[in-house]
Amino acid sequence: MAYSNSLLVDYKKISPNKYVNRKHAIDRITPHCIVGQWDAKTIGDEFARTSKGASCNYAIAKDGRVVLVVEEKDGSWCSSSESNDRRAVTIECASDTTHPYAFRPEVYEKLIKLCADICKRNGKTRLLWFGSKTQALNYTPKSNEMVITVHRWFANKACPGDWLYNRLGDLAAKVTNLLNTKSNTKEDNEVTASINITVNGK
Ligand SMILES: [Zn+2]
Repeated sequence: MAYSNSLLVDYKKISPNKYVNRKHAIDRITPHCIVGQWDAKTIGDEFARTSKGASCNYAIAKDGRVVLVVEEKDGSWCSSSESNDRRAVTIECASDTTHPYAFRPEVYEKLIKLCADICKRNGKTRLLWFGSKTQALNYTPKSNEMVITVHRWFANKACPGDWLYNRLGDLAAKVTNLLNTKSNTKEDNEVTASINITVNGK
């Protein structure tokens, strides 16, 4: 499948910190907490620094704006696991700086829409959350399935924070519902438009 990027992107600053040309098809989404209520420009500048040694595919700023940091065709340096980052789309989300690293409502709402868009463009109709590292990492997704993974499974970190961790079942359900609901909202049309671009780009 041809790789594409989301049309939900508001701001683009491509990072040099990445695995150029991922070799594994996208079948995971890994959401992270930034640990800071950052705006889009701050996010772009931070991940553009070579010395940062880190990146993400997308980031969602504190006001819900989406930043493209590493194109989907490339793997980001985000989850302390090369094998995860080469198959996952990673999303850094603006959050509080202290436990449980809460997101603002507009950030969580955009995360739902962005995950649905990523699934749709990559041919997925289900987003799965297992709540178990062993189950999730040993699962072989069917061609229409995308699996949520989290940074804390790969490193001794709190990421994505308990605020989001406790909502990952809700996120998976809402995204799967969006993917299987026909409607004429503006967001759905945007998702459809991005699919057409992918098809035409082949
Ligand atoms: Zn993380």
